[in-house]
Amino acid sequence: MGKPTGFLEIKRQEAKNEAPAKRLGHWHEFAGKMPAPAIRNQAARCMDCGVPFCQGGNVLPAGTSGCPVYNLIPEWNDMLYKGHWQQAFKLLLKTNNFPEFTGRVCPAPCEGACVLGINEPPVTIKHHEYAIIEQAFAQGWVKPRIPGQRTGRKIAIVGSGPAGLAAADELNQYGHSVTVFERDDRPGGLLMYGIPNMKLDKRQVVDRRLKLMETEGVTFKTNTEVGRHISLQELQQQYDALILATGATVPRDLAVPGRELKGIHFAMELLTRSTKDLLTPQATAGSCLNAKGKKVVVIGGGDTGTDCVATVLRQQCAAVLQLEIMPKPPVTRAADNPWPEYPRLYKADYGQQEAAARFGRDPRLYEVMTRKFLGNNGRLTGLVTTKVKWLKKNGHPVPAALPDTGATLEADMVLLAMGFTGPEPQMLQLAGIALSRQGHIKATYGNYATNQPGVFAAGDCRRGQSLVVWAINEGRGAARACHQYLQAPNRKNSTDKVD
Ligand SMILES: Cc1cc2nc3c(=O)[nH]c(=O)nc-3n(C[C@H](O)[C@H](O)[C@H](O)COP(=O)(O)OP(=O)(O)OC[C@H]3O[C@@H](n4cnc5c(N)ncnc54)[C@H](O)[C@@H]3O)c2cc1C
Ligand code: SF4
Repeated sequence: MGKPTGFLEIKRQEAKNEAPAKRLGHWHEFAGKMPAPAIRNQAARCMDCGVPFCQGGNVLPAGTSGCPVYNLIPEWNDMLYKGHWQQAFKLLLKTNNFPEFTGRVCPAPCEGACVLGINEPPVTIKHHEYAIIEQAFAQGWVKPRIPGQRTGRKIAIVGSGPAGLAAADELNQYGHSVTVFERDDRPGGLLMYGIPNMKLDKRQVVDRRLKLMETEGVTFKTNTEVGRHISLQELQQQYDALILATGATVPRDLAVPGRELKGIHFAMELLTRSTKDLLTPQATAGSCLNAKGKKVVVIGGGDTGTDCVATVLRQQCAAVLQLEIMPKPPVTRAADNPWPEYPRLYKADYGQQEAAARFGRDPRLYEVMTRKFLGNNGRLTGLVTTKVKWLKKNGHPVPAALPDTGATLEADMVLLAMGFTGPEPQMLQLAGIALSRQGHIKATYGNYATNQPGVFAAGDCRRGQSLVVWAINEGRGAARACHQYLQAPNRKNSTDKVD
């Protein structure tokens, strides 16, 4: 603990982001950075609690509480206070393969569980993580770690999101030879095509890590869809073990009249297209999926919906609304959402701040359900909505339409951002991989083994849609399970099999 009285004397201070009206003019990251003396001050607020809930990674009713990768938070805060940044960096690498991703996009369940948060704003943990890793890159402390010896074992990883990347990084460090198969043209999963560039820069941040991993010996095979270009069975024959990290990519649809009209898209269509346009404008010239001059309605009030709002604003939409079926959250913790649960609070995230800067108001409408889409000549012109009230049925909350609350909203683009139901089942079913009742890959947490020997599963395809930090946790865990599997006495390697 750097300064025993720090939490009594120092108030929480946050980095200043670029102003919403200004950042709408570009696609670069807008998050601010605190200078080192301010970080030292903020690190002094850490109380080094006997039981550091911040690093707990527990799943409570309201979601994750504490850090899912068990970052050594009080330890690095101590190092930051004492000015030992390189030591802080070494501690950070012990638990997190990619702090530059979580330091930017994690919703920081660590801060929701910070003990200081009981009666004061919590320690700025996420920003410290970001500052440590960026300092490490700037100082040249992040160096390729090329394994001295190879084990002769070959591992295939299907999917290159944070789960696949974390598994690849760990297994490569164990000395195994790792090939990552990715169907898209660039590796990264939702880190590349999903989370927008202004939250996580593709060239400066995602590519920087991918290049490092390549230098360390990981092979990426892009434009290769397993189940189409190569079967899972072929991979099983050619490799000693497999890790499935294909994500939860099936979007939740909205089956209401008019769904077939032109102008209604899943959120991921727009988000992927907009990043592709940004990275290779010449390849996607003439892309018709753009919100310029359009009245846009985003259905879904979560983070994906917010990313859509921020994206269409940058594309110069004429108007944007965001519909949320849930009630507006409270501004302080509700009685049924106590510390150290993740605080479910009303906040204006970056997209809503930007919409307010452009159009003068938060774009969200709460407790609103879409009844049908309206169109003319096959093209969307609007939607009919109704207000809902939440009732309890058999102990479960259900929305009930309120009479006489119907409204018509004009729209020539609707983006469906209502979450994801699970992984695409075809390739998995063909290969005989067992799925759970919810449609996720059946493999218990902590064990990660599927019903097929030597095939493991990690991330959203196993857990259901979640967070980058959980994907990293699962990738690390699956790598450990896979490594143990390969260590079993008398286990032959793939070369033996081929011979
Ligand atoms: C728009 C959006 C924004 C988000 N923002 C945040 C955020 O700010 N913070 C946060 O913590 N979380 C966020 N999330 C959630 C987070 O991105 C995911 O939980 C995380 O990426 C899951 O990682 P994963 O590796 O399991 O899967 P993914 O990142 O989905 O990666 C799966 C990869 O597998 C590939 N693949 C699938 N099938 C095959 C196949 N048959 N052959 C080859 N490749 C295949 C896919 O192309 C994809 O690249 C967001 C999600 C979305 C959709
Ligand atoms: S990874 Fe997320 S939960 Fe863990 S310390 Fe970083 S911001 Fe907090």
